[in-house]
Amino acid sequence: MPYLKLLAICWTLPNTALGCCFGILGLCLGGQSQFKRGVLEYHGGLVAWILNWLPNQPIALTLGHTILGRDAHGLDRARDHEHVHVRQYERWGIFFIPAYLVFSVLVTLRGKNPYYDNPFEVDAYTQFPSTRPLTGIPQRSTLSPLPKESVAKPKNDQTQQNFH
Ligand SMILES: [Zn+2]
Repeated sequence: MPYLKLLAICWTLPNTALGCCFGILGLCLGGQSQFKRGVLEYHGGLVAWILNWLPNQPIALTLGHTILGRDAHGLDRARDHEHVHVRQYERWGIFFIPAYLVFSVLVTLRGKNPYYDNPFEVDAYTQFPSTRPLTGIPQRSTLSPLPKESVAKPKNDQTQQNFH
C-alpha cells in the first residue's frame, strides 16, 4: 500500500471510527455490511432508520472510509458520488465535518441551498452529475430559483419516494 494512502487512512480514521460505530450498531439491529472499492459499507436496519431521520434524508452518507446507506440498491446508485466524499475526507481528515457544516452555513447566509450549493457537494455532483438527486430535498438552481409550486412535493409521488 502506498505510504500516501496509508497516511490518508490514518488522517481520517476518527471519521471512519464514527462510521463504524453507526455501522456496527446497524448490524446489531438488522443491518448488513460489505467491503467495496476499499471502503466499508453498511446498510439497512438502524442505519436506514438514522438516514431517514436526517434533515435531507440522504440515501447514503460517507464518514471517512465508511459509507452508510439505506439499502444495497441505494449504495450502488450513490457509490461514485460517495467516493468523491471519501477522497475529500482523505484531504480534510478530522476537519471535513466542521468544514462541511461551516460551508453549509455560509451558503445558507448567501441565500443558497445548504446541501446542493455546499462546495463539497458541488464537487461531487460536478464529477458525477448522474447521481442527482440523492436526497428527497428539492434541488435549487443557483442561476434561476424555481417557483415555489414546482418544488413542492406532490401527494403520492412514487418517483420522489424512491430517492428517500
Ligand atoms: Zn454528497
